[in-house]
Parts: sequence; C-alpha cells; structure tokens
Amino acid sequence: METDTITAISTPMGEGAISIVRLSGSEAIRVTAELFQGTNLLEADSHTIHYGKIIDPKTNDAAEEVMVTIMRAPKTFTREDIVEINCHGGMVAVNRVLEVVLERGIRIAEPGEFTKRAFLHGRIDLSQAEAVMDLIRSKTDKAMSVALKQMDGRLSELIGRLRQELLETVAHVEVNIDYPEYDDVEEMSHEVMREKSKEVHAEIEHLLEVAKQGKILREGLSTAIIGRPNVGKSSLMNTLVQENKAIVTEVPGTTRDVIEEYVNVRGVPLRLVDTAGIRETEDIVEKIGVDRSHQVLEESDLILFVLNYNDELTEEDEKLFKAVQGLDYIVLVNKTDLEQKLDMDRVNQLAEGKPVISASFIKEEGIDELESAIADTFFAGDIDTGDMTYVSNIRHIQLLKQAKQALEDAMASLEMEMPLDIVQIDVTRTWEFLGEIIGDTASDGLIDQLFSQFCLGK
Ligand code: GDP
Ligand code: ZN
Repeated sequence: METDTITAISTPMGEGAISIVRLSGSEAIRVTAELFQGTNLLEADSHTIHYGKIIDPKTNDAAEEVMVTIMRAPKTFTREDIVEINCHGGMVAVNRVLEVVLERGIRIAEPGEFTKRAFLHGRIDLSQAEAVMDLIRSKTDKAMSVALKQMDGRLSELIGRLRQELLETVAHVEVNIDYPEYDDVEEMSHEVMREKSKEVHAEIEHLLEVAKQGKILREGLSTAIIGRPNVGKSSLMNTLVQENKAIVTEVPGTTRDVIEEYVNVRGVPLRLVDTAGIRETEDIVEKIGVDRSHQVLEESDLILFVLNYNDELTEEDEKLFKAVQGLDYIVLVNKTDLEQKLDMDRVNQLAEGKPVISASFIKEEGIDELESAIADTFFAGDIDTGDMTYVSNIRHIQLLKQAKQALEDAMASLEMEMPLDIVQIDVTRTWEFLGEIIGDTASDGLIDQLFSQFCLGK
C-alpha cells in the first residue's frame, strides 16, 4: 500500500524529560538523514539508535541535540520505515525539530494515523487498533494493562473462539438440512444448538458485565460529593486528593502525564466532581426537587453523602436520602471528633443497608474505611485485571449487545421448536455482529466460511 510520509510529536504535551518526533513512511529515513549531523543514517541498520544534532538546513545552525532511532520496514509498528527523534525536554526543542521536518515536505499526521496505518497494513486488527487508542487515553496503570491485554489480541482471540462455536453449530444445521430424512439428526441439532447458544450467550453476558468495570477503569468513576452546607464536602475532596496522588499515566516510551482531576483509590480511578459542582449539589434538592435531583445524581457512578455528627438530622438530609434511593452511595458521618447530636439509628435505617462510615476529615479518620467501601462497592475488593478480558470500547459494547440480542432471538426460536433454518438466520446475525468487533465483516459470509472450513458439500 503506497502512503505518504507522516510525522507527529508522539509524547504528551507539557513538561517531560524527553519528547519524541516520530516519522513513518518511505521518506522518513531519507529526510531525517538530510537534517542529521552525525553518522550516515541512510546506512544505519534497523533498530539502532544514533546520537547527533538536528540542523536547520536554512541556516545550517545545529538546532537540537538528539538521539535518533531508525526502524526499517516491515518489523515496525506501522510496517513502514519509522524514525523517532528523541529531543531534550521542553516544547521549544521538540517544536523546532518538528518544524524543520515539516519544512522538508513531510505531512503532519492526523490523530491516530500511525495506528490506522498499522491496521491497514495488517499489523494489528481493528480491536487492537482501538485498544491502542484507549491506551493513549487510559488514565490509570490498571486501565492500561487492560488496554495492553486487548492489544495483545486477547479479545480478538475470545471473539474468534465464540464465532467458531457458532460456526460449528450451524454446521450441524446444514447437515440436518442436507439429510432431512434422519429424524434423530433433527433432534440432535436442536439439542446441540440449544447448548452451544447457551454457552456463547453466557460468555457474551460475562463480557458485558466486566465492560462496566472496564469503562470505570478507563474513564474514572464519576463521583459526586453531596450534603448540606458546612458538613465537610470540600474537606473530604481535599483529603482524597492529598492521600491519593493524582493519577499518573505511563505510556511506554513516553514521559509522565499528570491528570489532576482524577484520584486513584485502590485501583479505582475516581473522577471527582469539581468544587463548583459540589456547590450546586448542596441545594440541589431544594432547587429542583427530589425526583429531578435523583435523575441528576443517577448520572454519577458513585455518591458520597456527607452528614454532620455534630448536628441533628434535618429535613434537607432526609430529602437527600430520598434523592439517592436505589443509587450507589456511601454515607459519611463526619465530625465525629465533636459531640454527638445525630441520631445514628435513624441514619442506619435511612441508609437501607448501604455503608455508613464514621469519620473526622479534619483528623483524617474514616478515610481508610471509605476507601475500602469504594473498592468493595465496585470490585468486591481490589480489582484484579490478571485474567480478565475487559471490553472497554463503546463500539464493541454495542456490537456485543446486538450479538446477545440476536442470539436470544435464536434461543427463543429454539424454545418454540421453530425450523432450524429460521434459527440459523439469527445465529448468523450473531456471528456477524461478533465479526464486526474484530473488523472481519461479513464480506465472505458465514456460509462461505462454513464450506471452506467444513467442506459440507455432498
Ligand atoms: P462543605 O461546605 O460541606 O464543603 O464543608 P467544608 O469542608 O468547607 O467544611 C466546613 C467546616 O467544617 C470547615 O470549617 C471545616 O474545617 C470543618 N470541618 C470539616 N471536617 C471536620 C471534622 O471532621 N471535624 C471538625 N471539627 N470540623 C470539620
Ligand atoms: Zn465546600
């Protein structure tokens, strides 16, 4: 496939020790060699690194000290020649290098274009390409390990296996259609289809279940801190931010990128509502009523509801309890260093079995318990990404849901003892939806596959 040569800064913007300008394409090495003062890059072996200077050809000034990595096709990420120019930190240096590269007629890459090329050149499949995108955006180390696993092709592998199972199921149906005179074949086909469908259905459901956790890992648990004025919401927010270093992401080969609005609580990334948001939730019930505020709060994955131990339960507190009914929330009874005025029995009763934690944010008490409760609420303890294949991509989740629905249609037809060729239509749809996840669209449809794999001709 002929493509032009592209370039981009491939490290996050901002302060970092090293920034990289990456080039990919047939011109990558030639252009860099023209700008490079040092060894002759045209003769450099693949996967070697070279110290030297990038010069500005207009002025012949040595612009920047750099380390240049040469990677020759096809053993590269894009399967094209790749050059990485490692510059010293700071945006000035990297921008200057990028500028002289662009002046040589190299085009700036579109977002994700390196990955797109890897996909187009068959280096990775579609789900892997999407995983790279997720990796670039992932906010925590754990989210990253999920993305890395997907990139390794684990999701592709699993989807491939499920499709194979469906294919085998349909093979039975084909046999049945070909030899309708054998009654027991019909009987057997129904049985096999029922079993296989159930198996595949269970696996898809499991994938969808863990997808929720995957979404949380990737995007952070959107967390609202609510409570009456002065109960200690801001204090809680500050404590959480101080105790849990803001999340730091390390993409291989890049420098650290700090995202401050996220905190990492025992592997659960929380996206805390900013102070402005908190102000609003103080009188949210007052302003828009219990029902509407329930709707608003429903958009949060988690609600931290703060009460004052040193104050009696007010009507406003009761309204907040109504607004959070049925949602995921944790009650924090703050200011336990002061005299008790709060009716704890009543609080426990209103909390409907949700965690109620005694705390004193000022003394940093109750924070450990809160962190355990957060982890328990969502992951039944600390998350282990070790052997799970998460699906963390919206498109994949939608296709999985469609596949699940189609399979349920097939199962319903089976229950009603419908003819197998009717059932087969829905099984085929399931197979196609799953195929779209890994970018294997039904160009050569299920039946072609079937015949190429099972040679079912007479
Ligand atoms: P918010 O209005 O809900 O955000 O409450 P703040 O976090 O601003 O706290 C209100 C006041 O309560 C401040 O003066 C805090 O210092 C105080 N405060 C917060 N937590 C505690 C606590 O655990 N014990 C005591 N005694 N005071 C606290
Ligand atoms: Zn506040």
